[in-house]
Amino acid sequence: MARRESKATKTNRLNEILDRLAAAYPDARVGLDFTNPLELLIATILSAQCTDERVNMVTPALFAKYKTATDYALAPVEQLEEDIRSTGFYKNKARHIRECCLQLQDRFGGQVPKTLEELVTLPGVGRKTANCVLSNCFEIPGLTVDTHVTRISNLLGFVSTKDAVKIEFALMEILDSSRWNEFDRLIINHGRRACIALRPRCSDCVISDLCPSAQVSP
Ligand code: SF4
Repeated sequence: MARRESKATKTNRLNEILDRLAAAYPDARVGLDFTNPLELLIATILSAQCTDERVNMVTPALFAKYKTATDYALAPVEQLEEDIRSTGFYKNKARHIRECCLQLQDRFGGQVPKTLEELVTLPGVGRKTANCVLSNCFEIPGLTVDTHVTRISNLLGFVSTKDAVKIEFALMEILDSSRWNEFDRLIINHGRRACIALRPRCSDCVISDLCPSAQVSP
């Protein structure tokens, strides 16, 4: 594989990678459980420094108890902290959720807004959370740069940075927006199933011949 790839070559390689991962993971979906935009927004805030599996253990009871932005905004903070305690950093998360939902109620009629610009003005909501909500709830193209996307984009040689915003913009340069949402689902699934942190299964990886970091025995 050439050390310095042209943009067109990177685009072709990335599209081939996505085609293969789509065939390998036809059931790829976001790891957080939700049924509406508010639930995904809350789940994504809870997922900071926490696994999706842990968040999914907490959210069924949480979503049954708090159904609207107003429910969260009016909740006693100590109660909300207790309800989300096992996701870690629960004091900060509870504060962000209440402040975020207060603003949803005051500025957006209790609805989750559909633009990145509006979403990132909410407390506790950065580009990652905003893109996750836009792509998975509204089918609006957005690249969610999480820990899997960061690690695998570097391993695949598409970026050489841990900066999530730089990674997002570098990927936007080489991938058509029609594939951004698919990219996230596929790369995150690949990160969970094959390209696992610290123990990637390169010998079983369907894209090893397209990966400059592949460690495959001859
Ligand atoms: S070849 Fe190895 S390092 Fe490259 S994507 Fe596959 S599992 Fe990850």
